[in-house]
Amino acid sequence: MDTHSPTLPEFAFDNSFSRDLEGCFVAWQAEVTAAPKLLQFNFDLADELGLDGNALNSEAGTAIFSGNQVPAGAEPLAQVYAGHQFGGFSPQLGDGRALLLGEVIDINGQRRDIQLKGSGRTPYSRSGDGKSALGPVLREYLIGEAMHALGVPTTRALAAVSTGEHVHRETSLPGGVLTRVSASHLRVGSFQYFAARQEFDKVRQLADYAIARHHPEAAKADNPYLAFMLSVAEVQARLVSHWMSIGFIHGVMNTDNVTISGETIDYGPCAFMDAYSPGTVFSSIDTQGRYAYGNQPAIMAWNLARLAEALIPLVDEDRDKAVEVLTEMINTVPDDYEEKSIARMRAKLGLATAADDDVELVNELLTAMEQGNADFTMTFRRLSDAMRGNAIPVQGQFDGLQGINTWLDRWRGRLAQEDIAPETRAAQMDQINPIYIPRNHKVEEALAAAVDAEDMSAFSSLLTVISNPFEEVAGQEDYAAPAAPAAFPYQTFCGT
Ligand code: AMP
Ligand code: MG
Repeated sequence: MDTHSPTLPEFAFDNSFSRDLEGCFVAWQAEVTAAPKLLQFNFDLADELGLDGNALNSEAGTAIFSGNQVPAGAEPLAQVYAGHQFGGFSPQLGDGRALLLGEVIDINGQRRDIQLKGSGRTPYSRSGDGKSALGPVLREYLIGEAMHALGVPTTRALAAVSTGEHVHRETSLPGGVLTRVSASHLRVGSFQYFAARQEFDKVRQLADYAIARHHPEAAKADNPYLAFMLSVAEVQARLVSHWMSIGFIHGVMNTDNVTISGETIDYGPCAFMDAYSPGTVFSSIDTQGRYAYGNQPAIMAWNLARLAEALIPLVDEDRDKAVEVLTEMINTVPDDYEEKSIARMRAKLGLATAADDDVELVNELLTAMEQGNADFTMTFRRLSDAMRGNAIPVQGQFDGLQGINTWLDRWRGRLAQEDIAPETRAAQMDQINPIYIPRNHKVEEALAAAVDAEDMSAFSSLLTVISNPFEEVAGQEDYAAPAAPAAFPYQTFCGT
């Protein structure tokens, strides 16, 4: 059967993964779905990818984004990878419910993957059905777009489709397919798969590919694979410092969910924290709190150590020597993270220079927030009001004023060391401290309407708000406020 139709919209596919990495995937086809509907299409991203949005926001596009038609030039494939899941090693994971359609070069010259997620079983599905429920598809769409608007490196959503079929989880749920765009889908787990099998020629092939695609500077180093490791550590430290600075909790930082590119990937049981509390966990499956907010930097370093292990034979023929230099490198990760983190936090506080006790200044604020049950996002946002002379909005975030007032005095003392106009600082702070994040109750409201009532209006409104997170807009107060305290703590479910 010829699934290529000449009337389908064109993608200028250039499929390097399929061309260069034989043995790292299986060519595969999506399952056909009964009655697909295109619920959401990302025109901005289509433009960025050099695609014809109008041609794709159509029946022909629906056929592609549901997996029912293979566009010309696509070479659908399922990638193989392994991964440490909650600390335990799974030697064989892989795209169990996803297919890489192919790669395009975007208008900025960047190579981007276009992937279907929820497109049916593959050889890597294990006991899964290869499908996604619609709720998690829309969730990944929303959070990815929010992260992008917040300036965080992330995979993005090009389209969300409902399949017209049901998937069976704890209950029967409407199915969906997400079209996901990423810098690539290479993960720490991609390397672990071949390293665990002692196939180091494959590890090397993957590393060479990853260097060329994501870390080209490493190729020029004396030891390219060590430089590659260092470069991945850099982008991951930058990424996680960014997450931490906006209260984002990924929820499932398994090594198969850690990208080589430094993008956030796999929005499953993720959420933004409301009141600051480092132990916050939302994921229903993370019963031990392994991936709690405050653990994320340490887990990032742990995950990077797993990549380092996979690279040992590449870094030096002498294993002891390789272990020594990689260990030395991995030991620098926490300090590098702290440096990136404090730089971000300084900017959030309106500081332009570095002083020795800035870490203490930040920690004191966080302690006051924890004790005062203060909303993470709104506290930072309302500091710019305090900068402009009105401390009431930030004080209003706290139960009890003593902690925040003591801290505000200290902060003002620190600000006095720099000669910058308050309005200049406040305006800069408003560019880094968002007012709108995808509040958990708003996300749930939007998904419930979309899934239960096929009403996308709440989703659309929320998407508009979170796509412009730094500019306060009159009439959107409802989107800025945290939910009223719930009888039960908020939980997210991985059941995608
Ligand atoms: P995740 O927790 O979403 O990162 O997925 C971990 C692994 O489980 C990956 O190999 C997925 O492809 C696989 N997986 C998750 N859900 C399904 C499903 N419904 N069917 C088949 N494989 C799945
Ligand atoms: Mg995953």
